[in-house]
Amino acid sequence: MNRPARYDVLFEPVRIGPVVAKNRFFQVPHCNGGGYRDPSAAAEMRRVKAEGGWGVIFTEQTEMHHTSEITPFIELRLWEDKDIPAIAKMAERMKSHGALAGIQLTYSGINGPNLYTREVPLAPTALPIRTFTNDPVQARAMDKADIVNLRRWFVNAARRSRAAGFDLICLYGAHGFGIFQHFLSRATNQRGDEYGGSLENRSRFAREVMADLRDAVGDTMGLSLRVSLDESIGDLGFSNDELRDFIEMNRDLPDLWDLAQGTWEECSGPSRFKEEAAQYDLVRGIRDLSDKPIVGVGRFTSPDVMVTMVTSGTLDFIGCARPSIADPFLPRKIAEGRIEDIRECIGCNVCVSGDMTQSISRCTQNPTFMEEWRKGWHPETMNPKGPSQSVLVIGSGPAGLEAARALALRGYDVAVAEAGEAIGGRVTRERTLPGLAAWGRVVDYRQYQLSQRLNVEIYRGSRLSAAEVLEFGFQHVCVATGSIWRRDGVARQHVVAMPMDAAMPVYTPDDLMAGRVPTGEVVVYDDDHYYMGGVLAELLVQAGARVTLVTPAPYVSDWARNTLEQATIHRRLAGLGVKIVLNTGVAAIHAGGVEAACTYTDTRGQIGCDAVVAVTSRASEDALYHALRARAADWADAGILSVRVIGDAAAPGPIAWATYAGHRYARELDEPDRGDAPPFRREVARLED
Ligand code: ADP
Ligand code: SF4
Repeated sequence: MNRPARYDVLFEPVRIGPVVAKNRFFQVPHCNGGGYRDPSAAAEMRRVKAEGGWGVIFTEQTEMHHTSEITPFIELRLWEDKDIPAIAKMAERMKSHGALAGIQLTYSGINGPNLYTREVPLAPTALPIRTFTNDPVQARAMDKADIVNLRRWFVNAARRSRAAGFDLICLYGAHGFGIFQHFLSRATNQRGDEYGGSLENRSRFAREVMADLRDAVGDTMGLSLRVSLDESIGDLGFSNDELRDFIEMNRDLPDLWDLAQGTWEECSGPSRFKEEAAQYDLVRGIRDLSDKPIVGVGRFTSPDVMVTMVTSGTLDFIGCARPSIADPFLPRKIAEGRIEDIRECIGCNVCVSGDMTQSISRCTQNPTFMEEWRKGWHPETMNPKGPSQSVLVIGSGPAGLEAARALALRGYDVAVAEAGEAIGGRVTRERTLPGLAAWGRVVDYRQYQLSQRLNVEIYRGSRLSAAEVLEFGFQHVCVATGSIWRRDGVARQHVVAMPMDAAMPVYTPDDLMAGRVPTGEVVVYDDDHYYMGGVLAELLVQAGARVTLVTPAPYVSDWARNTLEQATIHRRLAGLGVKIVLNTGVAAIHAGGVEAACTYTDTRGQIGCDAVVAVTSRASEDALYHALRARAADWADAGILSVRVIGDAAAPGPIAWATYAGHRYARELDEPDRGDAPPFRREVARLED
C-alpha cells in the first residue's frame, strides 16, 4: 500500500450505534431504475461496491408499507414477509466484503400517489400529492389512529429489515420524499395538534418512531435519520436554521445524522450548475450540535476534498451516490494510492434518468453499471482475450476510446486512428461549452488509462480511407467515427428537410463549437430537447448575441427533466435574458427571420433574426463503414475477420450510449454469438396460484 499518509484518516473505523463501519466511505441510498423488478441486478451492483471497499452500503429507498408507494418509479418494497428474500439477497451481497448493509425505509406520504395500490395516501396535512407528474390525487390528513398505525408499520418494517440481514436502518426525510420531512416542514405539516405548530411538535413523530425502533431493533442495528439541510421551497420550508435547532434539540436522536439537500434537484445538482462539495456551507458546524456522527454528500471524487471534510470536523462519513456509481472501486483505489485510476463522476445525471424513465440506470463513465448481473460485467476486470489478436479502432470519441481501453485490458493489440489532432471526439468539443468542463473526464480517464498500456498505439491526424484500412491488415475493425449535426432542420418536427431561404445564415452546434458564433439577433431552434439547445443559448449570450430559444416542446431542454436539470436550465436562461418561446416550432426559415408555428394550433407568426442555430438531430459519419462493407469481398485477403460500426456512427445518442457501445464491442469480440436470445439475463416473476 503506497497511499499518502494524509488519506489514512479516511480509513478509520467509525461507530454507528451498536455497529462499526470499517472506514468512512459511505454509499448513501441511491435509486437504479431496477429495484423490485430487477432484484438480482440491483443486488450484484451493490456487491461490486462492497468489493470496491465501501464501509457502508445502502439500498435505494424501500417502500415499507403498501399504503405509500411512488409508482411508476421502481424502488424496493418491503410490504410483507414474502418481500424479504429479494432484499435479503441484497443485504448478503453488501456484506460480502465487510461493509455494513443499510436499508432506507421510506413512507412517501405527500409524495406517494399510490397509483398501483389504490390506497388513499396519508400525510400530515390534506394536500395534493407532490410529484414530478402532478398526479390528480390528494392525501388524507392522518388522524391519531393513523399515526399509531404508521408507527407500528415502521416497527414491522424494521423487524423485517433485521430478518433480511441488514445492519443499519435509515429513516428517510429528505429531498421532499419521506414522511419525516413532511412532518418537520411547516409547508406540508399544518396540523393544530401536538404533531404540528412548534418545531418540538413537528419533531414528535420522528422522536416517537426512533424510540419505537430503538426498542424493537436498536440493540443490534444502527439507526440513522436522513433529513434535509434546507428544504428550499420558500418561507414555510424546513430551513437550514430550523434543521440546526432540530438537531440541537434532539442531539442524540439517531445513531447517525444523514444530511442531504432539500429537493432532489438541489441535492443531485449536475456539474453544469454545482461544484464538488456544494453543500459545505449548509452542513458546516452542524457536527458541533450533536455527539453523533454525520454523513453528507457533495459529488465527492477527490480524496483531498474528502480529507478536508473530515479533518475540518465537518463530516464523519464521506457520502457518495454518483461517485460510487461512476467508480464502485473509489475507496479501494484511494486505499491503494491509485488516485490516477479513479473514474471520476462527470455530474451529468444520466444515472438519474434511469430512475426517472423507469428503465434501468446507466452511467456515462461506468458502462458496467447495472450490467454486473445482467451481463456479468465487472467495472475493473474484463473477460479473457479471445483467439484473435489485433483491432483497429477508428475514431477517438467516447465510443472509440472506451472500446480501446477495454480491448487493451483484455489483452488485444489495439491501434486507434483519429482524423483530428485532438483525442476525444465530441467530448473534446463539448467540454469547452458553458458548464460542461467536467464532462472532459470521460476523455481524461480513458486517455490516461491508454497511456499506461504497452499494447495500444494512438495515431493522430490520421483520417483513414477504406483502401488504407484494407492495407493495414488488422483482424478486426471497429468504426467509431461519430456524427455531425444536421443543417437541414430534420429532427422530430420536420422528418424531411425544412424550407430554408439561403439568405439566412443557419448554424449548427458543430459550427459554434468550432468557434463560428453568430451575434446580433439569434434564434436557437431546439428540436433536440436535451442539453445542447440550452447550453448554446448560454454560449451565444456570452458572445453578445440577443437570443430567442424556440422549441416545439412544453419545456426548455425537455429531456433534462430526467436528469433533474430542466428547472435550473430554464432559470439560468431566463436570468441571462434569453427569450423562451415554448410549444412553438419553426415551419420555415426566411431571409429576415423564422416562421413560428404553434405546436397545437399551427397558428403562424414571424420572429425576426439575423441568424438561426438549428439544434435538431445528428447524422452518422458512416461513409467509411459503408465503403468497407462494399469491399467485403476483399476482407479475407486483407486478413480482416470483422468490421463493426458503433456509437454515434451507428446511431447518434448521448455520450453514455457511446461509452456503453464501446465497452460492449470490447466485451463481445471473439465471444460466441448468442443468436436470437436477449444479450442479458433478466428475472421473470414467479407465478402465484
Ligand atoms: P462517438 O460519440 O460515437 O464516440 P465522436 O463523434 O465523439 O463519436 O468521435 C468520433 C471521432 O472519429 C472524431 O474524433 C472524428 O474526428 C473521428 N473520425 C471520423 N472519421 C474518421 C476517419 N475516417 N478516420 C479516423 N478518424 C475519424
Ligand atoms: Fe456521474 Fe453521470 Fe455516471 Fe451519474 S451517469 S454517476 S452523474 S458520470
